[in-house]
Amino acid sequence: MLAIHGGTPVRSGVPWPRWPRYDERTEHELLAALRSQRWSVSWYSPRGGKSRERVFGEAFARYNGAAYGVSVDHGSGALVIALEALGIGPGDEVVVPAMTWVAPATAVLRVGAIPVLVDVDPETGCVTADHVREAITPRTTAVIAVHLACTAVQLDSILAVTGIAGLALIEDCSQAHGTRWAGRAVGTFGDIGVFSLGAAKTLAGGEGGAAVTDDEDLYRRMLMLRADSRGYTEHAPQPGEYELVELGEVMGGNYCMSELTAAVLLDQLSRLDDQHLRREQRAEELEAGLHAIPGLGSIPVPGPVDRRAIYEYGIRFAPDTFGSADIEQVAAAVTAELGTRVYPPRPSLHRSALLRPRTKPRFAHFWDEAAATARREFPGADHYREHTLLVHHSVLLGERAEVEDLLEALGKVRSESKSLTTKGESP
Ligand SMILES: *Cc1c(COP(=O)(O)O)cnc(C)c1O
Repeated sequence: MLAIHGGTPVRSGVPWPRWPRYDERTEHELLAALRSQRWSVSWYSPRGGKSRERVFGEAFARYNGAAYGVSVDHGSGALVIALEALGIGPGDEVVVPAMTWVAPATAVLRVGAIPVLVDVDPETGCVTADHVREAITPRTTAVIAVHLACTAVQLDSILAVTGIAGLALIEDCSQAHGTRWAGRAVGTFGDIGVFSLGAAKTLAGGEGGAAVTDDEDLYRRMLMLRADSRGYTEHAPQPGEYELVELGEVMGGNYCMSELTAAVLLDQLSRLDDQHLRREQRAEELEAGLHAIPGLGSIPVPGPVDRRAIYEYGIRFAPDTFGSADIEQVAAAVTAELGTRVYPPRPSLHRSALLRPRTKPRFAHFWDEAAATARREFPGADHYREHTLLVHHSVLLGERAEVEDLLEALGKVRSESKSLTTKGESP
């Protein structure tokens, strides 16, 4: 009997790997930042030297092989300053995939532009070149491509389209820190790569974000955009000196990262590659097991990807694998077997409860205009959502035993799937 109907669960009483992870070294770094009395890039340091957020920006750029990196408060903030740095604003349309977190769409609204939702590949949930091409109008100025869950956007073909059409490309790598395409980190192919460093992400600072670019002008603009029109002093500040100088070439807001967050992130960054390695090892075991269960499989990864980050591992299944049970029923049943969350992707943004521009006066008027021509059908996004189960990356930071439990639970729910739809019905 399935655990959801009162049967014995596949796993109970054995804890899952915890997330986020930290140890004495993290505590030491955090305490050092606290005691430095420099809690913000806007405040001076009694000891002098670069702020931790500046050091993190440089280290994160290096990690990605980018020339420049900017630390910010959130992935959402990174999206906003990226759009602003590219000069995107009222009158512009920005292509946004329908299958993603809501932030790429709300960031476009926040700069006064119109997010044009497009459908995605049903197997990967990622936007494709064809979807982008179909959405281009004379008002289109940029594309936000999201590397989703445990795979990557087909960059070669997207870059061909944005190149021909003269569109800016922002890569949202909030789910792909350190994914490499033909040896190079994603986020460095478009004009700007943006990252969330939120608590759930593979590089977690609690709340945090970053943007990387190879373009010095975009970098300078992003520095000012995120620090109320201020940039850095050329040299590390002396004791008691401020590190931010008022440049005022472009008006910004305050999207700065706290020094305490930067201390945590510097520690976390040094662990990221080891964690990627471990997750990939577990993912390969999982993949082999999935292919042995009829109807189950994994999310395809484009050939040029030679290292992927796994934010959420996606288990794909063919229609009918779980009989007539829907994705919510399957996810709830597998979750009950395991005691860790196994869940469907979020609904496509065209049905999301979170994308509600009419609830803010400053968005309402142009959203009505945009809605008149907006696409209403997103079969690719809907298919992806109905046929994918996700598990958080922390599940793959454990041992082989976790993978085996996952496979056993999937197999059990598959063979008992009839009971998900007949339970409670009279014979
Ligand atoms: C998490 C996430 C964001 C938002 O990041 P915040 O740091 O929460 O603002 C943006 N885009 C994608 C694809 C995400 O997964």
